[in-house]
Amino acid sequence: MLDVCLLGTGGMMPLPYRWLTALMVRYNGSSLLIDCGEGTQIAIKEKGWSFKPIDVICFTHYHGDHISGLPGLLLTMGNADRTEPLTLVGPRGLERVVNALRVIAPELPFPIKYVEITEPEQTFEMNGYRLKAFRVNHNVLCYGYTMEVDRAGKFDVERATAAQIPQRYWGVLQKGETVEAEGQTYTPDMVLGPQRKGIKLTYCTDTRPTDSIRNNAKGSDLFICEGMYGEKDKQKKAKEYKHMTFYEAASLAKEADVGELWLTHYSPSLTRPEEYMDDVREIFPRAIAAKDRRTAELVFED
Ligand SMILES: [Zn+2]
Ligand SMILES: [Zn+2]
Repeated sequence: MLDVCLLGTGGMMPLPYRWLTALMVRYNGSSLLIDCGEGTQIAIKEKGWSFKPIDVICFTHYHGDHISGLPGLLLTMGNADRTEPLTLVGPRGLERVVNALRVIAPELPFPIKYVEITEPEQTFEMNGYRLKAFRVNHNVLCYGYTMEVDRAGKFDVERATAAQIPQRYWGVLQKGETVEAEGQTYTPDMVLGPQRKGIKLTYCTDTRPTDSIRNNAKGSDLFICEGMYGEKDKQKKAKEYKHMTFYEAASLAKEADVGELWLTHYSPSLTRPEEYMDDVREIFPRAIAAKDRRTAELVFED
């Protein structure tokens, strides 16, 4: 199960009723954070989730509204006597940017591991899930992310019996591990049916619509996407500043055939995003104008 919380939904600056866009996901005892603008640690507190299990922080890009909250969060983690390493993932320049911010948080009791994205698309396996970064189109180098949890096929007792695999190895094989014993090699595909649908989450913000989003968001259970503007007369502005309108996000959701779309990263001037949702749902019916701390539990089907 992926426990997903969109901590904030604002773009550019935090507002009294709207924190900056950031996503926190809990899976199997570890937590991942994507983006960390000013105030993100307060948003986590408001949600009531813990900083402690955060072991990965990803950045879409290095605009202040997506990273300026990092030094404060690092200090808070340090004050809680964290000693476990923290992994940071982000576009080229990650270590340089973080070190600059760390002038005000120089001494931390835990190590930081830097993972710089160097390719247009790059996949990282960690903590039992697959994280993929894909390049998008903003006015600085920017990436979107997918997070996927695979699901193995059903255990097939008949096949396991027919293949005369000793029962004591069934559990290990079911977990996807290979067993070598008594001169035999038993592999999971000998006892498991075809792979079943897993869980997929896509997050992208600060970009124009791109093929990389269309392709990578494909089949996501949840697609969290920026919608900077709801007003139809702001299409030109969206193009100029390399952002998206609600309608462009909805078209992407439709083309990628996702389960649900949550809009986020609203312009500070956009006070009532829900006003535009009837038109948005004409394009993609399962669209939601997310509010801060919107939460979902993504689970395997059936
Ligand atoms: Zn932004
Ligand atoms: Zn930006």
